[in-house]
Amino acid sequence: MTYDVAVVGLGGIGSAIFAHCAARGAKTIGLEQFGAAHDLGSSHGKSRMIRKAYFEDPAYVPLLLRAYDLWRELEKESGEELLTMTGLLMVGEESAPIVSGARHAASAHGLSLQVLTPREIQRRYPTLQLLPNEIGVFEPDGGVLAPERAIAAYLRAAARSGAEIRCESGVSGWEAKADAFEICLTSKARLTTKSLILAQGPWFSDALGVPLRVQRNVQAWFTPSTPAYAAGRFPPFLIERANFPAPLYGFPDFGDGIKAAFHAHGTIGEVGQLDREINQQRDIAPIIAAMEKWMPGATATFRAAKPCPYTLTPDGHFVIDRHPEHKRVILCGGFSGHGFKFAPVIGEIAADLALDGGSRHEIDFLSPRRFSGSPFAEKSLTH
Ligand SMILES: Cc1cc2nc3c(=O)[nH]c(=O)nc-3n(C[C@H](O)[C@H](O)[C@H](O)COP(=O)(O)OP(=O)(O)OC[C@H]3O[C@@H](n4cnc5c(N)ncnc54)[C@H](O)[C@@H]3O)c2cc1C
Repeated sequence: MTYDVAVVGLGGIGSAIFAHCAARGAKTIGLEQFGAAHDLGSSHGKSRMIRKAYFEDPAYVPLLLRAYDLWRELEKESGEELLTMTGLLMVGEESAPIVSGARHAASAHGLSLQVLTPREIQRRYPTLQLLPNEIGVFEPDGGVLAPERAIAAYLRAAARSGAEIRCESGVSGWEAKADAFEICLTSKARLTTKSLILAQGPWFSDALGVPLRVQRNVQAWFTPSTPAYAAGRFPPFLIERANFPAPLYGFPDFGDGIKAAFHAHGTIGEVGQLDREINQQRDIAPIIAAMEKWMPGATATFRAAKPCPYTLTPDGHFVIDRHPEHKRVILCGGFSGHGFKFAPVIGEIAADLALDGGSRHEIDFLSPRRFSGSPFAEKSLTH
């Protein structure tokens, strides 16, 4: 039997792709080396931020607008709340990329963003400790996604559409045949598919055609000593401060503690060798030190922590494209620590590319051809 589409990797991105392909009536199989919604990849930890005023690059904004709609569709389909609207507070000096980039994206796309003076921040959130020259921007459309539940919802949606899911089924290789691809599993079983979509997160190695670095990032949970940081009273936040090791972000207490982490701060190494142990001095003390400088009382009691890998491209932007030599192989990777919020729209894009041969969305800026050193840079599609 030949499948229309095989999706390799059913993490945050692959599960959405899997469901989108299946929903279009394609005969779809999803292959995952571990269990469903596991905690070894990049899509675990109870919460992920979503925002529209994208400081990383305003080119992402149209994709984000579509992602919000598609998250709501998934909620309707699954009957579950997966996206909680909370607003989002971003703080730093006026020139800090988080602040200036969010303002730039908001003005380029007419998005709602409130600039807050220190006095206004203090009035809204009296416990916060600001430095001179810091300002805030508040994005009312910021929100929080539930990653594990979203993946589970997508897998259920795919199954309802008739897709076949195979967990504990690692893919060891694939080969182009005359008009299909043969996939080899680690069990030595083989299957054939007309289109192949790779969404392997930090396990991508060189298949993406771009040098990737896998970075160990640690997310930590704390019980605060004050109700000032409870959800409903306090928003998710991002703060950039010169004497912090990296931008710091976090989520208010939804009942299981405040979550805080540095963005893109950790050792680089192989995903198979990722140190899963937490070292208080190395991993937790710097988060507490930074948090207590700006949100006193937020980290009163340590509860738990987990490492989670980022898959960094050289420029921090995603790679989404057709394989330069095989137009029916779709590459979706290098999400560089900010991809989860886009999962549904990437699902739609990958399904477009695999089943329709092109995407309705503007994604040229995400092609691996933008890297001049990439082996894909010079190649054009041949078939
Ligand atoms: C701590 C942390 C915080 C983050 N915060 C945010 C945030 O607030 N907002 C946001 O938008 N993004 C955030 N991100 C980034 C976002 O979570 C990731 O970009 C996204 O989840 C990546 O999903 P993925 O599907 O590419 O990778 P993964 O979820 O890791 O999925 C890849 C899957 O492929 C499987 N796989 C790989 N190779 C094979 C194979 N050969 N055979 C079978 N299966 C295979 C793996 O087992 C895995 O399940 C954060 C990331 C981290 C680590």
